[in-house]
Amino acid sequence: MPKHIFVTGGVVSALGKGIASASIGYLLESRGLSVTLQKCDPYLNVDPGTMSPFQHGEVFVTDDGAETDLDLGHYERFVGKQLSQDNNVTAGQIYEAVISKERRGDYLGGTVQVIPHVTNEIKERISKVAEDGGVDVLITEIGGTVGDIESLPFLEAIRQMRLDRGKENVLFIHLTLVPYIKTAGELKTKPTQHSVRALRDIGIQPDILVCRTERPLTDDLKRKIALFCNVEMGEVIDARDVPSIYEVPLRFHEDGLDEIVLEKLNIKTGPADLSRMEAVVERVTSPSREVSIAICGKYIDLQDSYKSITEAFAHAGVENDARVNLVWVDVEEIERAKDASGALEGCHGVLVPGGFGERGIEGKIESAGYARREAVPYFGICLGLHCAVIEFARNACGLTTAHSTEFDPDTAYPVIDLLPEQKSVVNMGGTMRLGGYDCHVVEGTKAHEIYGENEVRERHRHRYEYNNEFRSTLESSGLVSSGIHVDADLVEIVEITDHPWFVCCQFHPEFRSRPGVAHPLFREFVKAALAHKSGEEPGSSGHRSDGADGPLEHAAGSKVDGRARG
Ligand code: GLN
Repeated sequence: MPKHIFVTGGVVSALGKGIASASIGYLLESRGLSVTLQKCDPYLNVDPGTMSPFQHGEVFVTDDGAETDLDLGHYERFVGKQLSQDNNVTAGQIYEAVISKERRGDYLGGTVQVIPHVTNEIKERISKVAEDGGVDVLITEIGGTVGDIESLPFLEAIRQMRLDRGKENVLFIHLTLVPYIKTAGELKTKPTQHSVRALRDIGIQPDILVCRTERPLTDDLKRKIALFCNVEMGEVIDARDVPSIYEVPLRFHEDGLDEIVLEKLNIKTGPADLSRMEAVVERVTSPSREVSIAICGKYIDLQDSYKSITEAFAHAGVENDARVNLVWVDVEEIERAKDASGALEGCHGVLVPGGFGERGIEGKIESAGYARREAVPYFGICLGLHCAVIEFARNACGLTTAHSTEFDPDTAYPVIDLLPEQKSVVNMGGTMRLGGYDCHVVEGTKAHEIYGENEVRERHRHRYEYNNEFRSTLESSGLVSSGIHVDADLVEIVEITDHPWFVCCQFHPEFRSRPGVAHPLFREFVKAALAHKSGEEPGSSGHRSDGADGPLEHAAGSKVDGRARG
C-alpha cells in the first residue's frame, strides 16, 4: 500500500510549502524510494489557466497538457517523476465533478453534502494518484493556510484518510513560521502554537513541525514548541532561510527530517545520496563568473510569473559556472521611448518570455530588434518568437505593417496568426494548444547543434503560431526554420544565421529544465551571453569576470521566500 504524507501550512502564506514538499520528495527519492507529489488547491477555478499571472504567478504546463499551479514546477524540478493533470486538484474540479454526478443521478436521491460527497471525491483523487502511479510515497500539499474557509473540506478529507489507513501509512507535516521580533530580540513560538491548535480543532494532530525561521532554532525553542504542540523535540525541524532553494533539502536532512519521516512511516531504506543537489548548491553559491540577462516582459513586478524561467537560468548558470543576474525590464518604458538601448544597455543577453495581451507589445518587438541589430544574444520564448518574427518581417523583409492577428486582426501581413483549430474556440479554459508535442530539429542549424538531437519533445501553451504563408519570404531574408512539428507542419524554432545567437521557440523549454540538467537552450544562451560579455565568439570559453557588471536586480535561483500569494 502506498504511504501518504500530507503537508499543510499555518500562520501565513508564502512560507514555501511547495519547496518544502518538493524537498521532502527529493530526500525520499535520494534513499531509493519512488515518490510523486500532488497539490490540492482550495480555490474554485477549475485550473489556474484562466487566472492572471498577477494573481497566481506562473501557470506550469505538464506534458499531458494540464495548466497547473507553479508548485508542480518545483515538484518536477526536485524529483524525477513527470507529473500529469491528476497531480493538481482544485476545489473547482471537485465541485464540478460532484455536481455533474448529482445531475446524472449518481447519488440515488441522496442529499449531496460536503461530508461525505465532497470529501469522498477528494479522497478518491488523492488515492488515484498514489495507486495509479505505483509509487512508494505520495506527498500531497494542501494549498492555503489552516484557518481558511475554503481548505476545510480538504483538511477533513485527509483527517479521514488517516483514520481509514492508519498512522503507519499516513503522516501529517505542518509548516509554520517562527518569526524573529526585532524589538524583543527573540524568536517567537506563539504563532506556531496557535496554528497547531487550529489544526487540532479540526481533528488533525501534526506528526512533524517544519518551522520557517530567519535564525537558527535553539534546542530550548524546539523543546518549547514540542511541549506546547504535543510532538517530540526531534519532530520539530529547523527550516531556516537559506540562500538557494536547492539547499532546502540539504538543510532538512541535516536536521534529521528524512530519518524521522521514514521511522514514522515504518519504511526501511539505505542512506541518502544527496550528491546531485550538493553539487548544484556548491556551484549556485560560489560561481566564478557573472552575466546579466534582460527579461523583457510585462509581469516583472511579480517574478513568480516567470518562476520556471528564473529557475532555468539558475540551472544554466550552474553549468556555465556563472551567476546569472536577471534584469527585469519594463517593456512599456521601451515602448514610450521607442528605443531599447537605454533599458538594455549593459545586458549581455535579451530574453522575451511568453505572454498575452497587447500592453507593451511594441516594447517587446523593439527589444528583439535591438538584439538583432546590435548582435546581442537573443532568446525568444513563445510570444518572444512572435515578436522576433514580426520585427524581422517589418525591418528585414520590408513588410512594414506586419503583425500578429492577436494584436492587429486586420493586418495586411499576418506573420503570426491563429492556429486553424483555434478559430472556432469559444471557451477560454483549457483550450489553447497545450502540453508536449514532438519537434523535428533540422540538421545543420544552430538548434541542432544545441540539442544534438533530431527529435525532441517540448511543452506548449499558445493559440497563435508562425504563419506558413510567409515562410518563404522570411526564410529567403535569412530567418531559418530550424524546428518543425511535422504532423501539422508548424514552425517551432526559428533562428538567424547571421548573428552570434538568435534563437526563438514556440514552446516553453523552461518547463523541462532541472537542477543539474539545465535545458540545452538556456545553457547555450547563457554561454553565448558570457561570450558576448567577454567579446568572444560564442562557443569559445569565456574569461573570468572582473565582477564589474550592469545592474544586479535579481540573481537567478530564487530564495525560499518571495511567494506573494495565498
Ligand atoms: N499570446 C500568444 C498566444 O496565445 C503567446 C502565448 C505565450 O507566450 N504563452 O499564442
